[in-house]
Amino acid sequence: QHYLDRIQRLDPQLNSFITVAAESALAAAARADHALKAGDAGPLTGIPIAHKDIFCTAGVKTTCGSKMLDNFIAPYDATVVEKLAAAGAVMLGKTNMDEFAMGSSNETSFYGAVHNPWDTQRVPGGSSGGSAAAVAARLCPVATGTDTGGSIRQPAALCGITGIKPTYGRCSRWGMIAFASSLDQAGVMARSAADAAFILDEMAGFDERDSTSVNELVPDYVDALDNDLHGLRIGLPKEYFGAGLDARIAASIDEALKEFQRLGATLHEISLPNSPLSVPVYYVVAPAECSSNLARFDGVRYGHRCDNPQDLKDLYCRSRAEGFGAEVQRRILIGTYVLSAGYYDAYYLKAQRIRHLIADDFNRAFEQVDVIMGPTSPTTAFPLGVNYDDPVAMYLNDIYTIATNLAGLPGMSIPVAPVDSLPVGLQIIGNYFDEARLLNVAHRFQ
Ligand code: GLN
Repeated sequence: QHYLDRIQRLDPQLNSFITVAAESALAAAARADHALKAGDAGPLTGIPIAHKDIFCTAGVKTTCGSKMLDNFIAPYDATVVEKLAAAGAVMLGKTNMDEFAMGSSNETSFYGAVHNPWDTQRVPGGSSGGSAAAVAARLCPVATGTDTGGSIRQPAALCGITGIKPTYGRCSRWGMIAFASSLDQAGVMARSAADAAFILDEMAGFDERDSTSVNELVPDYVDALDNDLHGLRIGLPKEYFGAGLDARIAASIDEALKEFQRLGATLHEISLPNSPLSVPVYYVVAPAECSSNLARFDGVRYGHRCDNPQDLKDLYCRSRAEGFGAEVQRRILIGTYVLSAGYYDAYYLKAQRIRHLIADDFNRAFEQVDVIMGPTSPTTAFPLGVNYDDPVAMYLNDIYTIATNLAGLPGMSIPVAPVDSLPVGLQIIGNYFDEARLLNVAHRFQ
């Protein structure tokens, strides 16, 4: 009730929720109360949570931020939603997001932009901007997000919260609406690494319904939080500290690094030579996969359907033209182009090769260091509207986060000293399945 009251009072200024599930939340809270009194509580009994509106929720609308799915009610829960509910979490509602998770500012949502709680004239980042703003404004203690190229870490940075994108395959993608299947990963947005650890403990793990989920033991993330950091080797990629990074953000990151040295860590300059290619590679691979994934929205089986179609082609064309916004259409067109006969080798295949080189850079780096640190985003939260008409400027927001997705590695963003009263995020990248270490490193700092 406390959180529902806050949402009602404060969300009209933020627009961080698309759907508030007040009735089912209160019913779940009553069941949690009962379980607590009966002494049979689960690990998350009674903990309120909000889900990004990309996760299917049985009986509660799932829009993916799109007009295309404005009327879509899934008949089942995503695995991640199901696991958290089974652990006792209480779902408050569904958070706003960029349409089909394509964006870095939450301005492409069919339901309107989300406003940053620290300055409501500014963006919260994206695409998980609703989850980030809701956690930052204390409209929920924790929320789920997804990260294809930075969509958990960048909004976490711009809203001053903690976000973790686990290793590709660590959390199930079943029931999570697909954008770019080889990059998409579910994760947690929370007030602290400790809170994120409690949630990830329940969210992670193998799912036979997702063929890319990994069948590896999930360690206890909470257990590892307090490990000592003496001897921790931190790699600083020189490519992440060059031109394009706001000098005041660089100073804030430096200050955080000094704190890690005080905690016993050592700093090492490293190089990720192919990382400058990650944005162009991503904008071939992600649109290619999205053009294939979004082919299912055809106006026939579910989602938006145009009025009075003349024939099948008219039904497809108008349903998709009306249902998808400009950014989604741009990505589908780019993706269809790079996959088409004659261009496949020149664009898609070449991008896949460079993707391997980017992953190799990280593998070499992790022979020398335990974690990699740098900025999450080149700027603090920018004013609403400034990058909206310039897709390339918008795409450059993810310059430090995308390489991690291309390699499939886990990454995190934690708040460090603000600049001009606006939050700044420090990014921590780990080796495959090293989430426990990321959370430990973040927790000792916090
Ligand atoms: N901002 C990037 C994009 O627009 C990443 C989005 C994401 O991680 N979902 O594709």
